[in-house]
Amino acid sequence: MTDRAADFASLEGKTALVTGGSRGIGAAVARELAAAGARVAVNYRSSASAAEAIASEIGGLAVAGNVGDPEEARGIVERVESELGDLDILVNNAGITRDTLIARMSDEDWDEVIATNLSAAFYTCRAVSRKMLRRRSGAIVNMTSFVGLHGNPGQANYAATKAGLIGLTKTLAKELGNRGVRVNAVAPGYITTDITSGLSEEIRDFLLSATPLGRLGEPEDVARAVRFLSSDEAAFITGEVLLVDGGLGM
Ligand code: NDP
Repeated sequence: MTDRAADFASLEGKTALVTGGSRGIGAAVARELAAAGARVAVNYRSSASAAEAIASEIGGLAVAGNVGDPEEARGIVERVESELGDLDILVNNAGITRDTLIARMSDEDWDEVIATNLSAAFYTCRAVSRKMLRRRSGAIVNMTSFVGLHGNPGQANYAATKAGLIGLTKTLAKELGNRGVRVNAVAPGYITTDITSGLSEEIRDFLLSATPLGRLGEPEDVARAVRFLSSDEAAFITGEVLLVDGGLGM
């Protein structure tokens, strides 16, 4: 019983790629997966020193590249597989916001968010799928948001990508499930990272009052959910969207 508890959600011997792992939630996920025993590749776009620091802390590999570009996304997966081995776990975490009301939203605001938050997950899932299918195992976790389920004024681009990720998750769960590849999504509420650092005090207070657990989330809250869904403890869970939001999105 105690051994089983100690081994719970162990990722010993597994290889993982976390996109956008240099900061915030992705950095916490990289640390958590490594603490569970995985070899972890930390992808980033521009924060080289932060990504290198995390990779060296966890004995992993920092991999530069824009996941919103199809060639770069493929190159990231190929490099990780050649240096760390075939991937058992893919966490599509990289994400950006370009918030504004729709009347003012530029084509660039729309296209950049779609590429980084949604197309990127398509590119990386496609890149890992063939080997995962052949090996009849694999776990993919896509980072969506409670905004993808509920919408949010000023975030038409972002909400569309997060809702799109849910459709991608459920479709891939159906496509890949009979070969042992599981695909799930985690939907954080408001988590204290750079993305949410600009929130006004008024919005913070509102969110706190609307959150039954009475606090904003920490990156580690999300990381533990990702670890669980990546592990064999979640062997019969696929196509699931797990809210990690203190009850905000109920
Ligand atoms: P941060 O802004 O703190 O970190 C974003 C990460 O994504 C960074 O590592 C960044 O790399 C990376 N990134 C951005 N663009 C690219 C790209 N084109 N290619 C590769 N990496 C890229 O964000 P959070 O940690 O807050 O968010 C992580 C994920 O969680 C996102 O998908 C976000 O939408 C989602 N989420 C966050 C919530 C929150 O409240 N914070 C709530 C719900 C969902 P670099 O450092 O090099 O720029």
